Amino acid sequence: MSDPDSAPADPTPPGAVVPLVRLSHVSKYYGAFRALDDVSMDIRRGEVVAVVGASGSGKSTLCRTVNRLETIQSGTIEIDGERLPEEGRELARLRADVGMVFQSFNLFPHRTVLDNITLAPIRVRGIDRAEAEVTAHRLLERVGLDDQAAKRPAQLSGGQAQRVAIARALAMDPKVMLFDEPTSALDPEMINEVLDVVKGLAADGMTMLVVTHEMGFARSVADRVVFMDAGRIVESGAPADFFSAPATERARDFLAKVLSH
Ligand code: ADP
Ligand code: MG
Repeated sequence: MSDPDSAPADPTPPGAVVPLVRLSHVSKYYGAFRALDDVSMDIRRGEVVAVVGASGSGKSTLCRTVNRLETIQSGTIEIDGERLPEEGRELARLRADVGMVFQSFNLFPHRTVLDNITLAPIRVRGIDRAEAEVTAHRLLERVGLDDQAAKRPAQLSGGQAQRVAIARALAMDPKVMLFDEPTSALDPEMINEVLDVVKGLAADGMTMLVVTHEMGFARSVADRVVFMDAGRIVESGAPADFFSAPATERARDFLAKVLSH
């Protein structure tokens, strides 16, 4: 008879589809403050998940936790069926599978656009320069910026800088892309040029977690909307259901505030 205690740690039955990202009972504290409270979530391959919620609800912490920019106090995180270790070479390898785009671009200011995109593939992935540059030009073309390769970040508009940041993340050939409010720092007229790039990635089948305040975007592009409140996932469902019939008072309050004008 098999002993249940010696069963393999991976509960996924044979033949089942492994989610690309799996968070199980993740809790994260800043000191005594619980920023993530028992968060469990799967992201399927090719799925686009929009994360919405009030400021301070834990959306950025969730993003940063997925690639261990933040330590967690309990729970597990798996990328493509592999458990993320706390540190070391394996973490670096698995982290490279997760592309991240922040609100504030985070480009290297003294490097050209081309260098910003090729640095990590050359240093981390060990790709030779010529090949990295070919890929960078292809990615710049994809985000509509191939004519900007020689510029420095300060010479770009916010929308252009954010598109370079997306190209830079894609250059590592990630399995999943995380976006933390990628348009919040942009002037209104630049929001769509960035969202259109994210939409294009969705159409190409990229797996994505997108924290956003753009409800129209969440509604039209996401396969699923996750609503966070006080460090918990309070609702998770199809955009049409969430926006037309939120199940909780908290979500109704939130939507009344963000959709009121
Ligand atoms: P959101 O992105 O939804 O606005 P965050 O994930 O940034 O929320 O923050 C969630 C909560 O954790 C907030 O109350 C915030 O003040 C707190 N927090 C975030 N980062 C830190 C930190 N480095 N130290 C202490 N508290 C933090
Ligand atoms: Mg945030």
